[in-house]
Amino acid sequence: MLRKDVEIKVDDDFWQKKPLEEMTTREWEALCDGCGACCLIQLEDEDTGARVFTKVACKLLDIGACRCQSYQNRTELVPSCSKVTLELLETADWLPPTCAYRLLYEGKPLYWWHPLVSKDPETVYQAGISIRGWARSERDVGEEEIEEKYVVADLFSEFK
Ligand code: SF4
Ligand code: SF4
Repeated sequence: MLRKDVEIKVDDDFWQKKPLEEMTTREWEALCDGCGACCLIQLEDEDTGARVFTKVACKLLDIGACRCQSYQNRTELVPSCSKVTLELLETADWLPPTCAYRLLYEGKPLYWWHPLVSKDPETVYQAGISIRGWARSERDVGEEEIEEKYVVADLFSEFK
């Protein structure tokens, strides 16, 4: 789930004062830091169910802007795309450990680079959390290549 490309006005520190279930739609959307990491393709081990991130992003992601190019129709165009909801957070291990929704759900604080903390959307990129600097698009990478070259077992491991 990437937030819409609109300015979202919210109280400065709402995420420190309100539990997730009490947040308004605007506040919920403002939690998304726009990192794009949830749009990375993940591969799942058929036997164990273990997931691993790749450095390849969904075909609909504009990697430079870290924006979904068809936000309104994303779940129809990409059936595996999930809208992050409170219910979904109960099984949110598919979200990166850096994701603000997952962090707050697990009772952890946001990192310094989250725009709600830093007041600067660029810090997500400067901290290397945004996939903008290093991801490839699914449109440019063959299916076999994804598994052969772009699986990264320890992506985000320092945040686990
Ligand atoms: S991983 Fe979380 S914070 Fe990052 S774009 Fe996805 S929903 Fe937003
Ligand atoms: S359709 Fe793709 S790019 Fe758009 S939000 Fe879903 S995973 Fe991200």
